Amino acid sequence: MPRPQLSLVIPVFNEEPVILELHRRLGEFLGSLDVTWQVVFVDDGSKDRSIEMLRQICKDEPRYALVALSRNFGHQLAITAGMDYAQGDAVVVMDADLQDPPSVVADMYAKYKEGFDVVYAVRNRREGESFFKKATAALFYRLLRRLAGVPIPVDTGDFRLLSRRVVIAMRALRETNRFVRGMVAWVGFNQTAVHYDRPERFAGETHYPLGKMIRFALDGIMSFSTSPLRVAIYLGVLAGVAGLGVAAWAAYVKLFVQDAVPGWATIMIAVTLAASSQLLMTGILGEYIGRIYEEIKRRPLYLVREEQNVRLDSDDQAGPSERES
Ligand code: UDP
Ligand code: MG
Repeated sequence: MPRPQLSLVIPVFNEEPVILELHRRLGEFLGSLDVTWQVVFVDDGSKDRSIEMLRQICKDEPRYALVALSRNFGHQLAITAGMDYAQGDAVVVMDADLQDPPSVVADMYAKYKEGFDVVYAVRNRREGESFFKKATAALFYRLLRRLAGVPIPVDTGDFRLLSRRVVIAMRALRETNRFVRGMVAWVGFNQTAVHYDRPERFAGETHYPLGKMIRFALDGIMSFSTSPLRVAIYLGVLAGVAGLGVAAWAAYVKLFVQDAVPGWATIMIAVTLAASSQLLMTGILGEYIGRIYEEIKRRPLYLVREEQNVRLDSDDQAGPSERES
């Protein structure tokens, strides 16, 4: 069989309440398309009935493929697995919860036909997401852009189209701490945007509660920039200046104030300043060393326990076989 023109990669983690509707809308959308297509579902260790539903979908229609990971590896690794398996000339990564509407894929594909290699979807408006999530997301993307040095577009998620040569480039990046949208920006080529209004999750709950969002944000910043290390330098300078001030004040008191009993406050200030700057610096160093350790293990990024309807040709071997390296 020839390579499909379009592959959709859809990570699925406990999405039982949305799968039927997703399947229905995909069918509707893909049926209206004038291109050959393939859907790659990546089951990321779902604990509910998601995987059975996906198996059923794949049984009835060979253009739907399933890759099931051996446990929950997280959204970013699920996407990675999907991109390793996707065979299309163009590959679109989208969420299972219908927050990434299939109709936008048509706009992306049109841009791809104009010759763009990466088409990312920028969110105009987000329904049903808390003010807090929107505000922190806006702040995070702006911060990341300033720190990272690679132009990661503001207000985008992982909903994007990649041309085959970008997918092949992505397959060569096997780092463990993965921030996929940043890696796509790093790869380069011709990138452009389409705009859309992001609807509410069709059903179920977000898998990104606050704790996970913070970890995700740290992954983004730490894997693309070493500027947090510089904080230690600034802090050191600050502590030094403060220390000098305190020393001058202590000397003044000692020399010119009659019955001064200085010492306690001075020592306390000096000790706290020194201790806090050192602790912070140690923490930052530890964070990077931890990452070096993670990377140096060279573990496979994920393990697959089940495959259905997937085909791999010589070109694709570069991807999945590298998983093991
Ligand atoms: N997802 C996944 N593994 C996880 C968490 C999420 O594969 O550990 C999938 C999830 O099924 C969905 C997508 O990643 O298709 C995005 O997750 P979610 O909608 O919960 O994130 P949000 O849109 O709230 O940021
Ligand atoms: Mg979602």
